[in-house]
Amino acid sequence: MEHKNNDCNNLTPEVIKKLVESAHEAKKMSHSPYSKFRVGAAILTEEDKVIKGCNVENASYTLGVCAERCAIFKAISDGHKKFKALAIACDVIGLNLAPCGACRQIMHEFGGDYLIVLSQPDFTYKTITMNELLPFGFDDSDLNREKINYTN
Ligand SMILES: [Zn+2]
Repeated sequence: MEHKNNDCNNLTPEVIKKLVESAHEAKKMSHSPYSKFRVGAAILTEEDKVIKGCNVENASYTLGVCAERCAIFKAISDGHKKFKALAIACDVIGLNLAPCGACRQIMHEFGGDYLIVLSQPDFTYKTITMNELLPFGFDDSDLNREKINYTN
């Protein structure tokens, strides 16, 4: 999965490279004075629009939001719900940072087959699909399954 040079999910290496660069650009906007852990994310929408997000921390620690969710919420609020890929960037040398569990669930809401690009500070990357990142993800189909009868 590392450094794919072939098409992934119909995306060329050039497109993926640009998305990784956008994630690193987004990282520069990070508001992370507490953790000192900058994260950036960039989503490629079905319409080939790139939407960036960064982690936004808060003095009330639990209120912060991750870069991935920031980017997704921006995309949704701009009217985009179908994605081709999402790239993530951090500053840790040698680490292909993967999303936290909460972000995986939010990301899964919008499809299981888009490409997740986990990059390093030197812009190298690994790719994985959303379904590989969150197998057996919970979604709306689970809500609509037949249920047992119960009384409260
Ligand atoms: Zn997260």
